[in-house]
Amino acid sequence: MPGVRIGHGYDVHRLTGGRRLILGGVDIPWEKGLLGHSDADVLTHAVMDALLGAAGLGDIGRHFPDTDPAYAGADSLKLLAHVVRLLAEQGYVVGNVDATVLAQRPKLASYIPRMRDNLARVMGIESSQVNIKATTEEGLGFTGSGEGMAVHAVALIEKG
Ligand code: MG
Repeated sequence: MPGVRIGHGYDVHRLTGGRRLILGGVDIPWEKGLLGHSDADVLTHAVMDALLGAAGLGDIGRHFPDTDPAYAGADSLKLLAHVVRLLAEQGYVVGNVDATVLAQRPKLASYIPRMRDNLARVMGIESSQVNIKATTEEGLGFTGSGEGMAVHAVALIEKG
């Protein structure tokens, strides 16, 4: 189908003390935060990788290397804005995004509307075009033990 493309993104960050927990640009009060070179917003990272994947533009490691001091503590929403500009240069707009956050704790449901609003605003689309889900993994694996969080995302982009 010409003009419509799909992409997938996946990201993991370790949870640790002394860091903020930022998901979809929402600062969530919690005893641990996500470790990373940027603000470690694992949700926004997975969404960026889905968008870049859909456009055939590689991944965020290529565009925002974690060895580059320019991205230390970076606001991932600003990086997302850059990805949206890269897509626009190729003539693409975002159709919709769907993401699943894998986290044992904290409960994220009450923060999801603000995550949707943030991501939609930066992508230039309506909040209804961004779906975010959160699930535990039943105490299994690294998300279940609280060692980290993971996010899967898919995105559809289309010629604007
Ligand atoms: Mg990441």
